[in-house]
Amino acid sequence: MRSFIEVSPESHFPIQNLPYGVFKLKVGSLPVCGTAIGEYVIDLSMLEQKGYFRQTLLGDEKIFSRPSLNAFMAKGREAWKQVRAVLQTALSDENPMFRDDKDLQKIAVIPMKDVVMCLPAEIGDYTDFYSSREHATNVGIMFRGKDNALMPNWLHIPIGYHGRASSIVVSGTNVIRPKGQTKPANSENPVFGPSKLLDFELEMGFFIGPGNQLGETISIEQTYDHIFGMVLVNDWSARDIQTWEYQPLGPFLAKNFATSVSPWIVTMEALEPFKVKGPDQEPVPMEYLRSTGNWSYDINLDVYIKTESLKEPFKISGSNFKYMYWNIRQQLAHHTINGCNTKTGDMMASGTISGPTKDSYGSMLELTWRGENPIKLPDGEERKFINDGDIVIMKGYCKGDGYNVGFGEVAGKILPAK
Ligand code: MN
Repeated sequence: MRSFIEVSPESHFPIQNLPYGVFKLKVGSLPVCGTAIGEYVIDLSMLEQKGYFRQTLLGDEKIFSRPSLNAFMAKGREAWKQVRAVLQTALSDENPMFRDDKDLQKIAVIPMKDVVMCLPAEIGDYTDFYSSREHATNVGIMFRGKDNALMPNWLHIPIGYHGRASSIVVSGTNVIRPKGQTKPANSENPVFGPSKLLDFELEMGFFIGPGNQLGETISIEQTYDHIFGMVLVNDWSARDIQTWEYQPLGPFLAKNFATSVSPWIVTMEALEPFKVKGPDQEPVPMEYLRSTGNWSYDINLDVYIKTESLKEPFKISGSNFKYMYWNIRQQLAHHTINGCNTKTGDMMASGTISGPTKDSYGSMLELTWRGENPIKLPDGEERKFINDGDIVIMKGYCKGDGYNVGFGEVAGKILPAK
């Protein structure tokens, strides 16, 4: 499968991917929905006007001429499949309809450098899980010692907490260092000031397509039809604020000052060829969390840091989504088992994705082991946590045969506290 639009083999956005996002022109325009191919954005509102989706479940509805993907996400899997098929046909080098329509290309094929990406969805609710066994074990060892590393519930429940949707920002948005209460080890009383232990968390998130009614549950077999696609997530965390506040109710201001997401939602259809078996689960989870088949995904995840003095971003971690102990179906089944309703556009994040080796940990907390082993940067500087002016960049991609299905990146720069 090839597109008439030139796509380099390294690109994250070949015709096999076709993620969805919301963009506006740098010169100024209202945000609309698009897809990415190679170095271009395809304005789906223009294709819609031309009737490209008339034969699908969308009919003549103006679903892409909106500033969010929610209306499309609510349509469900059959509509998503139909639209994807239309786009793959339209963008194929074998089909003349779009390939030879230079007038349409002039208005609908836009160089990526000419657009600003927006948040892809109106996110009503945001839940953050804690589903990497390696991460939970590392943090457990640091905070409670080796013998009590994993809490007794962890192997039975996909642990999570309700995050804050209002502070989710799209990649490229600057993040202001939070201030708050902390209690330094050598101090009798808590102190107030800018966080000194600012960290990132390497995560991925999935978006809810059609939701479920209050009081209803989504069975594990049904979960897949409620999941639209995935993004990269940096769940910024202030470790010193977290340490002082997190008991007894869990994370609060240490986490809700910002969460960055990548702008392109990669669909589950595009990720289908990269399904893999997850880790063995022992003890066997309860019935409502039990499923057969491959429900993890082989997604390479890399973290880079770009300091003010570094010339190039420097890679500090390489992990993979497949290390996650609890999979996205189990997370959604668990989330709704009590009758909690979910809505279109809700985002569920994985929790920090740490791999088994020291160079695959998904946070500075783990990579430097609470600052005990600082990361040495190529210019001689060191980092225990994230400094003002540092940019954290996360990239994710699946390796296909001669192509990638990628997520692009999520990047964010830390600005000094106000
Ligand atoms: Mn998190």
